[in-house]
Amino acid sequence: MTAYDDLMGFQRQTEALSQVAGRLGWDQETMMPKGAAEQRGEEIGAMEEVLHARRTAPELGDWLAAIDDTALDEVGRAQMRLIRRDYARRVRVPGKLAARIARVTSVAYGKWADARANEDFAGFAPVLAEIVALRREEGAHIADGGDVYDAMLDGYEPGATGAQIAEMFDALRPGLVALRSAVLDRREPSQVRGHFDHGAQMILARKVAEVFGYDFHRGRIDKAVHPFSSGSGADVRITTRTAAEDPFNCIYSTIHEVGHATYEQGIDPAYGLSPLGQGVSLGVHESQSRIYENQLGRSRAFCHWLYGQMRDAFGDLGVRNEEAFYKAVNRVHRGYIRTEADEVQYNLHIMLRFDLERDMAAGKLEVADLEEAWNARFAQDFGYPVDKPSNGVLQDVHWAAGLMGYFPTYALGNVYAGCLYRAMLDGVPGLDDQLAMGDLSGATGWLRDNLQQHGGLYAPREVVERACGFAPSEVPLLGYLEYKFADLYGL
Ligand code: ZN
Repeated sequence: MTAYDDLMGFQRQTEALSQVAGRLGWDQETMMPKGAAEQRGEEIGAMEEVLHARRTAPELGDWLAAIDDTALDEVGRAQMRLIRRDYARRVRVPGKLAARIARVTSVAYGKWADARANEDFAGFAPVLAEIVALRREEGAHIADGGDVYDAMLDGYEPGATGAQIAEMFDALRPGLVALRSAVLDRREPSQVRGHFDHGAQMILARKVAEVFGYDFHRGRIDKAVHPFSSGSGADVRITTRTAAEDPFNCIYSTIHEVGHATYEQGIDPAYGLSPLGQGVSLGVHESQSRIYENQLGRSRAFCHWLYGQMRDAFGDLGVRNEEAFYKAVNRVHRGYIRTEADEVQYNLHIMLRFDLERDMAAGKLEVADLEEAWNARFAQDFGYPVDKPSNGVLQDVHWAAGLMGYFPTYALGNVYAGCLYRAMLDGVPGLDDQLAMGDLSGATGWLRDNLQQHGGLYAPREVVERACGFAPSEVPLLGYLEYKFADLYGL
């Protein structure tokens, strides 16, 4: 046994335990009896402690010092790159600081929820200021002289920098603001109406998941308040939700999570329970959920197929024909909430958060001034004022959870999805004809072969570039949105 074999055996157990921890979380959101909440908190905490100890174990350092990466093959070198990176990030953070962050973020959730219910940003500001200060301190340890925000971002999107993302977003923003304002000047298309039985929605959700290539033999679908997907390798589960008056909530949450899940299911099984055996970054993960949900799932061709499916499931939908249905699916309307935003406006929500949190990380914006900065920026990009904090600065849980550097990965996912779709149109001849028949095998096969199978083998931006054959940029996404919505709204 070489040091590399020993290390990989140790990693395999760590990855297995991490999958177990993830399944505890899945159970908590789907099946767990209410009375078990407190005990489950302790169970998850105990697992996290075991995992943290393994990920910072002194023997890891010994192995890393003993192994000569250049003597390994490409896969071995990629494994080592990920293990070294994770270890270096973790050991740079003092244990006391990590514990303080865990303590503060665990109480912050309750304070955020109260503040949101009472429309009281001032009630949340002190604990948020503490979180920002602690995260900046942690970022400075990890950055080791480099940029603090980049260190935060790197935890979710390895290799990305704030400057690179700012350049992309700044190029995207004016076009999106103009498109949004042109679209909202037009008449809003009508919505679907009807009786959408919960059970029938779940049956259709299963069918749509299968159509998109989700493998139920290695997965399952359940309901959760906030849909998510979880797990890697041979056990990747998804959740969705149903609303009696809005069937699209269920259908498109399902397609979104199927995008995440088929990515995990599509990774080369040889990488199972190893650092390479999961999606390479949050941005690339989101590109898979978004291309399924938007470029494919909200395309005219697929909507025409879905219209027939929904008529079979629910009867009359209150819209004239499949074209009116396509317009209803892609309806753009005024709103404040990121998670309810359509394709045109979603990225504007993200850019706002990205600029504000980057300024907070750099010490250019104080938490005390955050609400005012948020409202000013919202009015600028959306054209109307925020009416209350729960529709503005208090709407998302991310900062309360200590997540800084996380938001931009959502929009980066959209940018990558735009690039991948551009390449897919060339790579899958007759794509629209397939979508119109409810056949996603060409699209899903293309993604699996060109991107998903690689898992963590290549860096995030690199795997997208390899799949596309060109350097990722915001240009394909903006072109796609301008073309689609000009056609939809007669601009
Ligand atoms: Zn997602």
